[in-house]
Amino acid sequence: MSLDEVYREVIMDHYQNPRHHGHLEQPTLSVGLHNPTCGDELRLDLQVSDDGVVQDAVFEGQGCSISMAAASMFTEAVRGKSLGEANRIAESFKDLLMRRESDRSILGELEALEGVAKFPARVKCATLVMNAFEKAIRKMSEGGGSGNVQA
Ligand code: ZN
Repeated sequence: MSLDEVYREVIMDHYQNPRHHGHLEQPTLSVGLHNPTCGDELRLDLQVSDDGVVQDAVFEGQGCSISMAAASMFTEAVRGKSLGEANRIAESFKDLLMRRESDRSILGELEALEGVAKFPARVKCATLVMNAFEKAIRKMSEGGGSGNVQA
């Protein structure tokens, strides 16, 4: 099996069996985003401790296999990480898709989406969950606290 085929299987597995699908009753942060170019819709709920650790990350939404697989992989990757670490995962993933220098060691299964770099129109699908995450973090810092953010 080629690496491409392995990657495709990992993506389809996350799409068909999303790891952290659903919503939180009282999320610290909750951000919805949609990607008009493809029609993907996503809501990301985060539970963040007072010392800035992502205790829980879940998503729900509808969209193409790439957007949903990326959300499943990202929520898996950031659980238990500090917000700073989670942010580095998001940045490294974007770097990977932009073909810039990227820290692959922290990406986990997200690396399987590397092939999306060949399809610029789909990069927005793959990064939708990271954009939701970054928007949540911005709102949190602007608000000066860990209030529930609806976007
Ligand atoms: Zn899409």
